[in-house]
Amino acid sequence: MDVTLSRRRFLKISSAALGWSVAGGTLGKISPRASAANATNGGIETIPTYCDMCFWKCGAIAYKRNGKLWKIEGNPEDPLSRGRLCPRGTGGIGAHYDPDRLRAPLMRKGERGNEQWVQVTWDEALNFIADKMQQIKAEYGPEAVALFSHGIGGTFFKHTIKAYGSPNIAAPSFAQCRGPRDTGFNLTFGEGVSTPERTDIRHARCLTLIGSHLGENMHNTQVQEFSEAIQNGASIIVVDPRYSIAASKAKYYLPIKPGTDMALLLAWMNVIVNEELYDKAYVKKYGFGFEAFRAEIAPYTPEWAYPETTIEPDLIRATAREMAKHKPASLIHPGRHVTWYGDDAQRSRAIALLNALLGSWGRKGGFYSPVSMDVPSYPYPPYPPSEKGKVDNPHEKYPYAHGHGALTTGIRDATITGEPYPVKGWFVYATNLINALPNEKETIEAIQHLDLLVVIDVIPSEIAGWADVILPESVYLERYDELNVEWFRDPFIALRQPVVESPHNQKPNWWIAKKLAEKLGLSEYYPWNHIEEYLDYRLKHAGYSLAEIKKKGIITGAKQPIYFDEGVPDEFYTPSGKIEFYSLQLKEKGFDPVPKYTPPDPPPPGFYRLLYGRAPVHSFGRTQTNPLLADMMDENSVWIHVDIARRYGLKTGDTIRLKNQDGVLSNKVKVLATERIRTDCVYLVHGFGHKNKMLKRAYMKGASDAELITRYKIDPLMGGTGMNVNFVTFEMEA
Ligand code: SF4
Repeated sequence: MDVTLSRRRFLKISSAALGWSVAGGTLGKISPRASAANATNGGIETIPTYCDMCFWKCGAIAYKRNGKLWKIEGNPEDPLSRGRLCPRGTGGIGAHYDPDRLRAPLMRKGERGNEQWVQVTWDEALNFIADKMQQIKAEYGPEAVALFSHGIGGTFFKHTIKAYGSPNIAAPSFAQCRGPRDTGFNLTFGEGVSTPERTDIRHARCLTLIGSHLGENMHNTQVQEFSEAIQNGASIIVVDPRYSIAASKAKYYLPIKPGTDMALLLAWMNVIVNEELYDKAYVKKYGFGFEAFRAEIAPYTPEWAYPETTIEPDLIRATAREMAKHKPASLIHPGRHVTWYGDDAQRSRAIALLNALLGSWGRKGGFYSPVSMDVPSYPYPPYPPSEKGKVDNPHEKYPYAHGHGALTTGIRDATITGEPYPVKGWFVYATNLINALPNEKETIEAIQHLDLLVVIDVIPSEIAGWADVILPESVYLERYDELNVEWFRDPFIALRQPVVESPHNQKPNWWIAKKLAEKLGLSEYYPWNHIEEYLDYRLKHAGYSLAEIKKKGIITGAKQPIYFDEGVPDEFYTPSGKIEFYSLQLKEKGFDPVPKYTPPDPPPPGFYRLLYGRAPVHSFGRTQTNPLLADMMDENSVWIHVDIARRYGLKTGDTIRLKNQDGVLSNKVKVLATERIRTDCVYLVHGFGHKNKMLKRAYMKGASDAELITRYKIDPLMGGTGMNVNFVTFEMEA
């Protein structure tokens, strides 16, 4: 492969149409040529690590020049990054130099939420937290403390909270993100699509993206593979109410009415089954309940779907035939953030079923079977059993919420109601619950019921503004973390290791979690003195060592089969042991055994559906103060169709506020009047409109979609929160 061409295409997709260039602007100060030239200079030092600018964990090489952090590149040995980082990863050094970073432990003075703080020592902060936790335990039991966590950095906090005796550990990545997808695929194939997704995009001959904007939704490996698929001439089908960057690469673009994906998926399946275009041998060998499935989808013709989706029947047929033509190397991407309309697990199940018809599961160009290295866990003492069990899902209201930690909103509800038992302490690690959970008011109401709110983060997020204690964490370039033993197409172990010292009084997560455990009298759960001992123990028991992995940052294993055709066992962990076209377990629980369509609620007159998404240079709301990334995008705009904008007398660059159906008013936001969006919706990039005053660079810049998401629809299968059910109108008085 021509690496230069490939990199250029990758960057083109990641920044296309938005005018961003990694090779120019602020990041251009760090050119690859300068790197090569300076590599021979005496003052240059390289240290491999892995990126934490998002959860993808790409292998990277950090450069120091004269002892100072200088630049970061991809680690060519790493199967995830393959030597290339995305714009956020390249801008990672800005996280170290961010002037808005938390610098020292802070304790609240005055009312919660007033954002008035006293700087304290680590001992004072941790003694206060440990005392409060012991009081909560004595009065309510250990289950009354919950942890909300995001990313691999939460590993040691989970360990401490489990050792303390609480099973209430939740992550927004399930109920506010990919939970419905994994539920839908599990119900169909008996396995989820894991993370990184087991999608063989690189070898797909036809790639269908339905609500998944690869390129803006910047997951490095996938974008590189998307670029390869395009280069190899794969047919791209994009379904999106907004003409995304991915849409600009598509052979077929379907500007669907928001909320009607299910109708399109059912119609596609109807065409593929009626025209006998499915992989008959595969369905016969692996399918369960196909004839019942065929009967269920019979009414959903393209003509039926047309008024729902606004997609012409001919286009539905043409795209169904196109995806069938390339089977089994025809991949319907499962997406990632899929908590939209409240029927999201069934929507994902429909995507899984469509893939099953195309025979793509377990096949080249479809879904491969991921492999991993065998690295034994550290032999800790067993955790104390919980008498009360998890608080989040009483009476198993959401039967498929199980096995994924606790539900975030379930913990929030229990905190407000005290049912099934009281929750009195929250630990919040690296997730901004105010923006991650729908309905900010409910989150703030829950906080009022707490005796203890601890936030651990690198920057002062909105949830930190409500904390009793804020603990400043070292950024990823200043710390070790848990080993990354990934399930992927190539087996590998990756190390995160410190490149530079923390500039102020920040501490690594493992140190904070260990010290807290010691103050709680739980020292037996941390028999090691330094994380290096822990890492070395695990690596030695896998046949390697810390000294060995520190050199390259990566240890790779031998290639293994990843497709059925290569000898991967064709097993399905469903009740029938087959691909469940018709699900008896769903039927027994009172759910539809084959997905059905429910039309979305229409917008009130004069309102437009609020859609939100990602930008390739920011990760959620966590990077807006990073000076390198903020230079590329320091506020968002609201996308409005030109015809609608004209009706309100608006043009690109005008400033307005958005008002939602419940009267919540956003910050000021600039208008982008464009033909690249339907007339019935508007679009915001998530993560802007910050209101924590300590975020000086990002304070009040752009509008927060999260603030406008006051309503949500709960998925009856797994408890996810559908958030695309809010509508906004425009307030001209900016
Ligand atoms: S996708 Fe980008 S931000 Fe995320 S880990 Fe990889 S390089 Fe870092």
